[in-house]
Amino acid sequence: MKVAVVKESAPSERRVALVPETVPRLRQSGLEVLVESGAGDGAWFPDSLYEDAGAEVVSPDRLYEAADVILTVTRPGPADVARLRGGQAVIGMLAPLIDPGLARDLAARGVTAVSLDGLPRTLSRAQGMDALTSQANVAGYKAAIVAAEAYGRFFPLLITAAGTARPAKLLVLGTGVAGLQAIGTARRLGAQVSGYDVRPASKGEVESLGATFIELTSVTNAAGEGGYARELSEAERQAQQAELEGHIARHDIVITTAQVPGRKPPLLVTDDAVKQMAAGSVIVDMGASALGGNVAGSQPGETVITGNGVTIIGADNLPSTVPTAASNAYSRNISALLLHLVKEGELAIDTSDEIQAGVVVAHDGKVVHPAVLRLVGSSEEGEPAHVDRPGH
Ligand code: NAD
Repeated sequence: MKVAVVKESAPSERRVALVPETVPRLRQSGLEVLVESGAGDGAWFPDSLYEDAGAEVVSPDRLYEAADVILTVTRPGPADVARLRGGQAVIGMLAPLIDPGLARDLAARGVTAVSLDGLPRTLSRAQGMDALTSQANVAGYKAAIVAAEAYGRFFPLLITAAGTARPAKLLVLGTGVAGLQAIGTARRLGAQVSGYDVRPASKGEVESLGATFIELTSVTNAAGEGGYARELSEAERQAQQAELEGHIARHDIVITTAQVPGRKPPLLVTDDAVKQMAAGSVIVDMGASALGGNVAGSQPGETVITGNGVTIIGADNLPSTVPTAASNAYSRNISALLLHLVKEGELAIDTSDEIQAGVVVAHDGKVVHPAVLRLVGSSEEGEPAHVDRPGH
């Protein structure tokens, strides 16, 4: 079976789905590895390293012609989809709850679509495949660094002959994987850190990192299924926003990471909250997307400075800005999932397996994942977040 690694086609995407280090592991399992020329350049893995590891470096034409399985980081764009043929498989972070149309297009072409986004994350045997976690870790780390770079003062308490600088006060809204990594990184840089989440279980995790957990009276528990948060009601949302305002105003830096699976990110920092922050404050919105993020006025991929001197950074693809570390981790995740799917040198799709039931989106010409099928069947149902494909 030939497994192929494409060069990511979204313009700002620097990650690669498989790094040279992982090639021997796939070859030992009897798989041939093809790599599109230049696929690893953005993450500092030249073609020669893939060749040394036993992969064949090929042109895009040869890749699409020969590949049985195509490994990707993000969703393929329309031109890439047009090159796929029936019987091929694509494995990547296909975001089918956000872009169910892609799942439908792949199914229509007879392409098997496997998405790492759907992995059952609490299953211990799936943890090595958990790309959402590995990429959120990278993103959370980088969010703290981006905030430190944009902030005009120090993070740590500094006592020098030229005076004493107080430590920065930093608030993380949404303390899942990315939020906790942002807290850890900001603490290591010396900031005074607080965290807030709607899942009460995260209190202990925030405190174990030496940060203060903020508890609101308006929303006490919005834990949903599978360890995720549920969407808040309109009344809860307004009460939460109003109560957060005072906390936000007391901080120099706010990093937001809040997500609800398959939904538009919740607005946590309103226009009023931004207006109450002091000049020189910094907000990093990791939820920034085309339909708006966690922060009023944030623009994905852009930095906006408000009239009152607050820098709002729409950090929409931070893992791509730490491409080597992000690719290393992703490569381990995707190869572990691929090897789980392969039996006797072939893909063996079997959705009675708990892991496969989560990740297999389309197979045999049909959308097979129930949640995606609901969205494809009725595009009016729910509120899928958005359907633009990154950079295409
Ligand atoms: P996520 O990216 O879906 O969301 C980020 C955070 O935003 C979450 O903590 C969520 O509770 C929070 N959030 C959502 N709406 C909010 C709102 N209105 N206000 C404030 N916060 C809000 O989450 P994630 O980082 O992917 O983690 C989700 C869960 O999965 C967590 O419970 C995490 O511990 C769990 N998890 C478990 C494992 C494992 O068991 N191996 C691995 C990874 C993640």
